[in-house]
Amino acid sequence: MFPKKIFEDIKSSDFQKHNKKQVTEDFVTENFKACFWNVYRPFNDTGIDLIATKKVCPNNHTQFDDNTISIKKCPNCHKEFINIERFIQVKTREIKGEEGESMFFGYTLKSKDFRTDPRHIFLFYSDATNDFLIVPMFDYLQFFHQKEIGKSHFGTPSFRIGNNKLNSLKRNEKSIWEWKGRETYSFMQFLNEKGMELIVNPNYDLKLNDYISKITEMKFDLFYDYSAGRQIDKSQQEVFNQILQKQVKQNLKDIAKKRVERRKKLIKTIDNQLVISIKKYFEKFKNFDFQ
Ligand SMILES: [Zn+2]
Repeated sequence: MFPKKIFEDIKSSDFQKHNKKQVTEDFVTENFKACFWNVYRPFNDTGIDLIATKKVCPNNHTQFDDNTISIKKCPNCHKEFINIERFIQVKTREIKGEEGESMFFGYTLKSKDFRTDPRHIFLFYSDATNDFLIVPMFDYLQFFHQKEIGKSHFGTPSFRIGNNKLNSLKRNEKSIWEWKGRETYSFMQFLNEKGMELIVNPNYDLKLNDYISKITEMKFDLFYDYSAGRQIDKSQQEVFNQILQKQVKQNLKDIAKKRVERRKKLIKTIDNQLVISIKKYFEKFKNFDFQ
């Protein structure tokens, strides 16, 4: 069973506001360790709460809770294990409502939380029901990109207005997690063991660059989509979106390309010590822009 109740003596009501984050991160850590993952905390405050690593078969034969610590090769295909890395952002909420009733899980995500990296994971922890929703970055974006739902939570100007709290993630009266917008879509593929099965997939590491390209494309589509307020009619919204799609997005792509070219040119012409120092300075921000 995953997650295990590691701290049997702690009730969710015992979580105090000031140590809730700490207790949750310890709880996540202990559960990952019980499944033979290594877990540590990054030193800097980068928005990543935990880093989890595990040795797995490159042909995806490893289960999320297999003990791969003391062996080097896959017992199925005899390939040597590779190390996978997952950067986890934890969101905890005490969901509102009673058992047997529909409850919602409110959370906020900022545009900078959407790293252009498939190894980045959102972990939503509902302490009242002891559920983990474990959602890889690629899968989160694909969920909304394919279904054309919840787009407004990415699109400008949503990120600029208020804290943009999302209240569409729900656990219904039959204990089914779902995204409830105009239509309802199941979120059960991310629940507990199912979510763990997704993140143990080594392709996020082995095909990193392919996933980065796909995430970049989806981010462009989702972030540069304009949804109008009430004062603007549909035809104007259509015009705005055409401009966004055709001009702004293309310009941004050109800018990204030019930036890479300029960086390459600069590195060739400036002093090596300065290059090292600049690289160190920008290390902290490396995933913040479009690649
Ligand atoms: Zn294998």
